[in-house]
Amino acid sequence: MADVRIEDAVQIILRQLGENPEREGLLKTPHRVARALEYLTKGYEEDPKTVINGALFTEDYSEMIVLKDLDFFSMCEHHILPFFGKANVAYIPKHRIVGISKLARLVEVFARRLQVQERMTTQIANILMDELDPLGVGVVLRAEHLCMRMRGVEKQNSIVVTSAMLGSFRTHQETRQEFMTLVNSGQVR
Ligand SMILES: [Zn+2]
Repeated sequence: MADVRIEDAVQIILRQLGENPEREGLLKTPHRVARALEYLTKGYEEDPKTVINGALFTEDYSEMIVLKDLDFFSMCEHHILPFFGKANVAYIPKHRIVGISKLARLVEVFARRLQVQERMTTQIANILMDELDPLGVGVVLRAEHLCMRMRGVEKQNSIVVTSAMLGSFRTHQETRQEFMTLVNSGQVR
């Protein structure tokens, strides 16, 4: 199976769905699907550690740094259907800070893979804890899952919220509260 290309597999799927892959509208579909899937899973080729370590600074700053409401798009590994929403990432530095744009890249590296939201949340938190050695890290993801919405499972409009709190975000209730207040401010739903 190793040498079967995504294009060939998509042709098979189209046939199994009762479609005719030779009809005009579908002729280029296997190619398009392959390119789209490659793009949506390009996070596999990126090393999250390299993303962070390229932009570390020594800094005597010890207040909470928050990246709020970052859009992310991922795909659930159970159905290969999108889940997407907002990522909120915060940390309190001890001696190292990382460029904010790299935090966004980091979320993207983990999002562009087949994922489950829970794992993505802890992966982001763990790598920041390991590489920045901060006082604490908090990550909250809010997302809607098309595998639930489109298949009519659970309530329509339901949002899945996952969080990971490490270090002072776990041990200090005020820290966690400060972060959650920021995350929830301006939240419409
Ligand atoms: Zn799913």
